[in-house]
Amino acid sequence: MSKLRYLNLILGDQLDAKSLLFEDFNHQSDRLWMAEVTAESTDYLSSKQRTVLFLSAMRHFAEQLKSDNYPLLYWSLSDKHNRFYDALSATLKLDSFEKIRCVLPGDVRVINELQQCARDFNIEIEWLADQHFISEKGEFKAWLADRKQPRMEYWYRELRKSRQILIEDDEPVGGQWNFDKDNRKSFGKTGPSKMPEPLLFEADNITRQVILDMEKYLPDLYGNIEQFNWPVTRQQASAALKDFIQHRLKHFGDYQDAMWTDEPWLYHSRLSTCLNLKLLSPKEVIAATEQAYRDKHIPLNAAEGFIRQILGWREYVRGLYWSYRDDWLKMNALNARRNLPALYWDAGTDMTCLHQSVKQVLDHGYGHHIQRLMVTGLFALLWGVKPKAIHEWYLAMYVDAVAWVEIPNTLGMSQYADGGIVGSKPYIASGAYINRMSNYCQSCPFDPKQASGDNACPITTLYWHFVDRHQDLLSKNPRLGMQVKNWYNKSQDEQQAISQRAEYLFRNLP
Ligand SMILES: Cc1cc2nc3c(=O)[nH]c(=O)nc-3n(C[C@H](O)[C@H](O)[C@H](O)COP(=O)(O)OP(=O)(O)OC[C@H]3O[C@@H](n4cnc5c(N)ncnc54)[C@H](O)[C@@H]3O)c2cc1C
Ligand code: SF4
Repeated sequence: MSKLRYLNLILGDQLDAKSLLFEDFNHQSDRLWMAEVTAESTDYLSSKQRTVLFLSAMRHFAEQLKSDNYPLLYWSLSDKHNRFYDALSATLKLDSFEKIRCVLPGDVRVINELQQCARDFNIEIEWLADQHFISEKGEFKAWLADRKQPRMEYWYRELRKSRQILIEDDEPVGGQWNFDKDNRKSFGKTGPSKMPEPLLFEADNITRQVILDMEKYLPDLYGNIEQFNWPVTRQQASAALKDFIQHRLKHFGDYQDAMWTDEPWLYHSRLSTCLNLKLLSPKEVIAATEQAYRDKHIPLNAAEGFIRQILGWREYVRGLYWSYRDDWLKMNALNARRNLPALYWDAGTDMTCLHQSVKQVLDHGYGHHIQRLMVTGLFALLWGVKPKAIHEWYLAMYVDAVAWVEIPNTLGMSQYADGGIVGSKPYIASGAYINRMSNYCQSCPFDPKQASGDNACPITTLYWHFVDRHQDLLSKNPRLGMQVKNWYNKSQDEQQAISQRAEYLFRNLP
């Protein structure tokens, strides 16, 4: 059997026709390889929405490659390979290659699995740099090395200066680095009005076939698939970006933290899937946003607020994921030991904020940042859910979840399992925060102001329980130390009533 040159692996979140794999591709001696494997939805849970998104985007990408005459080996669900290891083994048994190549996957587990297969077949595997990000290989590590306590803000400023994004004469445009103060508006009593709908994409024949295949080969996944409207091609992703910039970005800054009943998208971009699957590059999203500001189409707080998410947070959590690699899943700084409550899988709860946020995830695989951080994440943190259990839920249920971005956000920012690597303090709040930022409490049987008694808001009760049980940690933080003092300003009777209510909740979650 004569040897081919490169077997080039393309994973489901590497749908980038400009990746390094294509740079020196030879149509005669090289092959492209893609695989749909069942374990990526079952052993490592993935919801219906997420699974259909990945498989549909992969099949659309494969169609494009075939129409561009690339020699592609594609294993689909009907080939019944369980793991990447199995699908790759099957290929290596059929053909012989000098080398396997793959852009570095965004999940250490997948790297290990592919590496193991290459080792077993005694073939070299080369990891190519992922050029889809703004920061380059080694850049974050060098920046981190100089810092005792890294903070996103300084990394973000560094990138803005070095890439000259929203910079004039070496100073930030508008004279300040961030407009966070302007970006915390709620919708008030009347709610969001005249909000332009985002561009939603109907399922085409390829997506419909994916849904049929999923029902046949992966029948037991969580969530719903009656509505599926995510972009699955490069063309759709570009259209979604254009539509967002034209119609909704101008209010992104103002309302980025606000929530509203039955309004999943509000002024958010829905672009994380396009970015994470690599249908869009962060550079083009940032360039288009800056241009819209320079064309006076959007205000500075919207442009800066949106760019900060992608240039700041996205690049920052990626750097941190690789800095702590295998250690993330061992972290449990708050010694959280409880199981994930069942409501996370079926939205079965009277608590309106949680019902709304989880239902949205089941139906669309989506929640915006504040729903993830200050509703589903907050409740798990206050409840004391084991970090690994809540991480598995986030990775399974959100359409945009890939380990490099989900893990630092969930275990670090949201659960403080890292003891303060991603953020400087646990993100905790009582029901008053949710009441201020949404209308959820208006239709909830509980009262966000009450911490004890039958009508008490469970979030408020558990907030005080958390403050009490973690008072040593919180006292060290100037802002949260105040809350410990407030706990001690309560009468003993009040403290006891809150503790009793919390114990009741731990036994009888509503
Ligand atoms: C507990 C938790 C888990 C999360 N898990 C994921 C995840 O698995 N995948 C994911 O892409 N994002 C994750 N995020 C970040 C953020 O919530 C989503 O990126 C965002 O909600 C996606 O919706 P959007 O595209 O409409 O975003 P927008 O609100 O329109 O924001 C614009 C873009 O900024 C980027 N962004 C914003 N915040 C972050 C952040 N903290 N980290 C990285 N990128 C960010 C995203 O690419 C997003 O598309 C998580 C946040 C939390 C608190
Ligand atoms: S009262 Fe409490 S549980 Fe109900 S919606 Fe408000 S914050 Fe959520």
